[in-house]
Amino acid sequence: MSSKQEVRIPNIGDFADVEVIEVLVKKGDTINPEDPLITLESDKASITVPSPLAGKVREIRIAVGDKVSAGDLILLAETETATAAAIQATTANPAVTGTTAAAAASRPTIKADLQAELLVLGSGPGGYTAAFRAADLGIQTVLVERYPALGGVCLNVGCIPSKALLHAARVISDSKEAQVFGIDFGDPKIDINTLRGWKDKVLGQLTNGLKGLAKQRKVEVVHGAGEFLSPHELKVATASGDKIIAFEQAIIAVGSQAITLPDFPDDPRIINSTGALELQNIPGRLLVIGGGIIGLEMATVYHALGAKVTVVEALDRLIAGADADIVKPLHRRIQKQYANLYLGAKVTGVTAGKDELIVSFKGEGTPASASFDCVLVAVGRRPNGLQVGAERAGVNVDKRGYILVDKQQRTNVQHIFAIGDVVGQPMLAHKAVHEGKVAAEVAAGWKSEFNARVIPSVAYTDPEVAWVGVTEEEAQVQGLNFGKGVFPWAASGRSLTLGRNEGMTKLLFDADSKTIIGAGIVGPNAGDLIAEAALAIEMGCDAEDIGLTIHPHPTLSETVAFSAEAFAGTITDLYLPKK
Ligand SMILES: Cc1cc2nc3c(=O)[nH]c(=O)nc-3n(C[C@H](O)[C@H](O)[C@H](O)COP(=O)(O)OP(=O)(O)OC[C@H]3O[C@@H](n4cnc5c(N)ncnc54)[C@H](O)[C@@H]3O)c2cc1C
Repeated sequence: MSSKQEVRIPNIGDFADVEVIEVLVKKGDTINPEDPLITLESDKASITVPSPLAGKVREIRIAVGDKVSAGDLILLAETETATAAAIQATTANPAVTGTTAAAAASRPTIKADLQAELLVLGSGPGGYTAAFRAADLGIQTVLVERYPALGGVCLNVGCIPSKALLHAARVISDSKEAQVFGIDFGDPKIDINTLRGWKDKVLGQLTNGLKGLAKQRKVEVVHGAGEFLSPHELKVATASGDKIIAFEQAIIAVGSQAITLPDFPDDPRIINSTGALELQNIPGRLLVIGGGIIGLEMATVYHALGAKVTVVEALDRLIAGADADIVKPLHRRIQKQYANLYLGAKVTGVTAGKDELIVSFKGEGTPASASFDCVLVAVGRRPNGLQVGAERAGVNVDKRGYILVDKQQRTNVQHIFAIGDVVGQPMLAHKAVHEGKVAAEVAAGWKSEFNARVIPSVAYTDPEVAWVGVTEEEAQVQGLNFGKGVFPWAASGRSLTLGRNEGMTKLLFDADSKTIIGAGIVGPNAGDLIAEAALAIEMGCDAEDIGLTIHPHPTLSETVAFSAEAFAGTITDLYLPKK
């Protein structure tokens, strides 16, 4: 038997007399629970009110421009079940100013161990940022993490441990290079246990810091692997048994994992980046499979620690995302330092012998096979989207494991967001952080969007390689009308005082407007320098804005200004013949 039901505005926190800016359904439409009905907008937030029921819209009682408050009638719907005469959302927590009514309108009456206005699944840079931002906006937040330490890949087995070891590597290589100017420290004595302990101490400081930050904000942390049971429930396998968390909104921030190569033997001498960062020993001969950022950073570390490093890369170049001229100084340097560098080559198999791993190769210049003490597989990462029962929450995940989101980080399910590595490339911590803030703010009813013009990339190799915005090769492929300004660091006083001259700064400009559209930098500290170019792109700076900004002398940052001057034709630190 069908019946007519009234659908009313739910309790929307502190809001009253809020303007209707969109009516998203019309008479005759079929609606389902969670379908958005109307959008309200106040000076603080925009709020989408979803349907609490399934049925057919019979009458709309609201129009764009109306001012509404909790309890006002939105529409009449015909449903198949005759229950209450008026359907209204359960009360949203008034303390949560700006929380979307999306979840509140359909807040389930689920028997659960824990209730969360916002559940964040995964505590990497995306997840913890989202949880902290949400808590700061007044949302009661629960953060679920399967491992004992917060911080995800980045803090525990990614950005931070790798940079700690890269710092140690740089100290070793800098001290060796000091011989050139008459200072000889002798060969380094490496106490691997102390080095590992120091790296772990750095991680401990940061991950414990996160624990403290969560506590200060009253973010409840639950440890255990989580999987969705429904659009409003997550089961967490904790040390004390399964716990059900009922949530109004959720942010999925479950990150990614290293890709493994099929048919490799199961052998502890075959490791991925996590194994490499554990620093169990320093192998005599290390093969790194993959000439991307992670593989080359690990190669930098182990080379400095004394391993004979070979790198094999399937493409015909290293760090394929950056321009070849920016990567060249790194290529030249490691070609001299490493045992072998095979490009356009592949590993076809690994056999585990008693004392060594025998690796066979295919590709020009490679031996048919060679022996190594350790093989590091660094061929990329894949998203974890297929491992959290997302389908039970109705969240679309593609075949590769990526969760699809819009500019507000919303998935196809209105009250569930996703951020970080699990939503796509580039898999970088700073992208995850910004997405986390957007998701938290949208969950709080803000109109935020992920609108970054550019996301910088950095390989913390020696020299560092950094780029942002469009690359020169992309600009050519896209047929852009552009010009460039290049400054070789051999002409930088600061670079020469560091005993290095191989660096280069290159800025790309739109030929008409002269605004900066991209940058590539190679050299020590390129990763820090690229931030200026990223800011310049975000601010829409042109060559004069950059060149006329007084940079401190003598610094590597001057090379950014000099590149802009080179483009503008005003440079005096180089002689560029008139065209
Ligand atoms: C060796 C290495 C070096 C790197 N260096 C850099 C760098 O210098 N700069 C940079 O920007 N990026 C770097 N990255 C990439 C960076 O680490 C990631 O982009 C970043 O960590 C992604 O953040 P995230 O929040 O999306 O996910 P992650 O950091 O992957 O965190 C996801 C979290 O979710 C948890 N989780 C997953 N599934 C579940 C579940 N079912 N239940 C509960 N918890 C779950 C995981 O345990 C993890 O803690 C590096 C990566 C590696 C591997």
